[in-house]
Parts: sequence; structure tokens; C-alpha cells
Amino acid sequence: MHGAWRSFNAEHTRLESRALPIVHHVKYICDLPENHRFPMGKFPKVLESLLKDQVITDKQVWAPKIASTELLGCVHTEEYLSNFISGKISEKDQRRTGFPWSSGLVQRCRYETGGTVLTGEIALQRGLASSTAGGTHHAFPSYGSGFCLLNDLAVGAKHLMGESTSRRRILIVDLDVHQGDGTAFIFKDEPNIFTFSMHCGKNFPVRKQQSDLDVSLEDGTEDKEYLSKVQEHLPWLLETFRPDLVLYDSGVDPHWEDELGRLRLTDEGLYQRDLYVLQAVIKKGIPVATVIGGGYSRDIDRLARRHSIIHRVASKVWREHGL
Ligand SMILES: [Zn+2]
Repeated sequence: MHGAWRSFNAEHTRLESRALPIVHHVKYICDLPENHRFPMGKFPKVLESLLKDQVITDKQVWAPKIASTELLGCVHTEEYLSNFISGKISEKDQRRTGFPWSSGLVQRCRYETGGTVLTGEIALQRGLASSTAGGTHHAFPSYGSGFCLLNDLAVGAKHLMGESTSRRRILIVDLDVHQGDGTAFIFKDEPNIFTFSMHCGKNFPVRKQQSDLDVSLEDGTEDKEYLSKVQEHLPWLLETFRPDLVLYDSGVDPHWEDELGRLRLTDEGLYQRDLYVLQAVIKKGIPVATVIGGGYSRDIDRLARRHSIIHRVASKVWREHGL
């Protein structure tokens, strides 16, 4: 491991810590107009919540590099990247993304994507790593949609798959309440990347794409039924696809209090879901990188704490499996 950190997409790293690697950047956030629906303040609060409750120390925190246009170009078109970065985005396209364009927004999305790539790189070395952002699965190669400008999961998967003849096989487990439509579209013809999306059928996006596996849930689905669906599908996916890396989108918008979800999971249900997923993957000796996905509430502290469930679970699994 010594000296190897230079090969990571990291600004700096903390080799002194042997605990769960957490990937975070202060530039994960940007300014938004007052009363904007997207809870931007959650990103630093997730980290604060983990530090305050002594789940982690700052020695565990790795800062990603900004994603280069070259890196983003493995998924996004040159024209879209150039227009997005320079602000040549029409009013109509801005409305579809849900965000007014700003240079801060561009920077935020690029650091977030760099963060997901770094989280995957560390996971491959150490078995498990967790970002405090990521999961922007509605972004397509040539346009943004539904609060997603760059598809960090797709860029991460494509980059980590590699280009040599011995490509890695990557499984994307997307348990955000919304379908991972951008990711599904991007990898529809890529046999080395398997997209699994479990989501609420009646939720955004209206027009679904076809993932390698879609599990559509009814409105109001509760903990027990939800967990049984995860347990029904994940083991055989791991057994048959045999991934070299799992990217896990642990969106908390299936929660009953969520403003945009339509399901009825509790905090305990999300905890049990995350614990099941991480244990199932780690027990097979497969590395896993986690991103936080969606979660919508006016109460930023409650929301940030809910997003931090995955890091709490990951810390427990890290300790219990002696990673
Ligand atoms: Zn979502």
C-alpha cells in the first residue's frame, strides 16, 4: 500500500487511519436560490453528524480530485460537457435539471463525481469505502435531468471497469426510490456493467428505461416487504454475475417522511437494508463503494442523519469483518 496512494484520484489522503475510508470534499456544495427544493446543505451535515457522534474521525476523510473533462468524457458527450461547463444551457434544459446554472454548480458536480471515482478506487484496494455524496443516476450522456447533471455512478463504473482485456465486472445496486434511468440507458449494451434498480413504479421518471434488472414497487411499500425484495434478488445477482466491484446507491428517499418518495420505510428499515446489502457483498469477498443517493426534507439535520445511516452501517461492517 505504501506510495500507492499517488495512483488514486485524491487531493490528499490519510494513510495513518486504518478505519473505514470516508470520501468528502468541502466543494460538494454550492449556493442555490433561497427556498430551492434541493437540500444542498445536507452534504457537510452528513460529515458533521458522523464526526459529532464519533462514528468517524477526521483522519478517515479522503478528499477527491475534481473530475477532469477527460474522465467525464468516458460517459458524457463532448458537446454537453463543453456547454455545461461554460454555462451554455438553455432555460428549458435548466428547468429539466431542476437547478439554475452556476459555475459553483459545475464545480460541485465535478467534485462529487471525482468523489465517487475515488470511493471506488479505495474500495478496490481496501474492500469498502463510502462517499458523503453521489448517486446522480438521472443524468444522460448529453443532458441532465432530475437534479442530476453528471452521472457519477456511470463515470465511476466505466472508469473502474478499465480498458484492458481483463475488464472488471461491476454491479450497480441502485436502491434510491427513483429508477436509475440514466445509468440504465448508458450501460444497456455494456455486458461488464450490470444495472440493478429497485424503485417505486409510480415515481419519477415517468418514462422508465430498461435496467438489466428492474424491481418496481407499489406505493406505500413498508420495511418488511421491501427488505424481502432485496433478499430475493441480491444473492443470485452476486452468484451469477460475479462482480469484481459493487457500487451501492443507498438513497434514503424510500423513507416514509421523504418529500419525493412514495414508500413507507423507517430509519430502522433503511438500517437493515444497508446492513443486509453490505454484509451480503462483503461476505462474498467483493469490494463495495457506497454513495448516498437521494433524500428530500426541509429538516436538513434529520435528513443528514438519515443519510449517515449508510456510513454507520459501513463502519460496523468494516470493524466486524476486520477490513
Ligand atoms: Zn431519488
